[in-house]
Amino acid sequence: MDCLFCKIVAGEIPARKLYEDDQVFAFHDIGPQAPVHFLVIPKKHIPTLNDLAEEDNALTGHMLFTAQRLANELGCEAGFRVVMNCNDQGGQTVHHIHMHVLGQRQMTWPPG
Ligand code: AMP
Ligand code: ZN
Repeated sequence: MDCLFCKIVAGEIPARKLYEDDQVFAFHDIGPQAPVHFLVIPKKHIPTLNDLAEEDNALTGHMLFTAQRLANELGCEAGFRVVMNCNDQGGQTVHHIHMHVLGQRQMTWPPG
């Protein structure tokens, strides 16, 4: 599988891992856009949000709960942002779905 994030899950490309279980993997973003910026990804290869199936509902819920738990462990009790980009116009560059979790700075709205 020629997918960067599948290779990170497989340990073929190093990452600063925060958490792993049978369904999800979380690691620090290599180009942080906030003092805290990590990614939560499914171990299952799903290219974009448009490829989600109903059977993935529990998986995506688990991703979101993992994001919340890790954000709080990393000291983001004052607030944080969760972002998922979908396809080119949505700003997606890695085609394996991922939740960005950003915190420890004031966010603004709308995002650029
Ligand atoms: P997106 O533009 O939403 O697809 O986000 C992809 C994210 O993956 C970007 O924030 C990148 O900085 C991040 N990224 C790319 N390569 C790596 C890597 N090897 N380790 C950690 N994060 C990465
Ligand atoms: Zn993948």
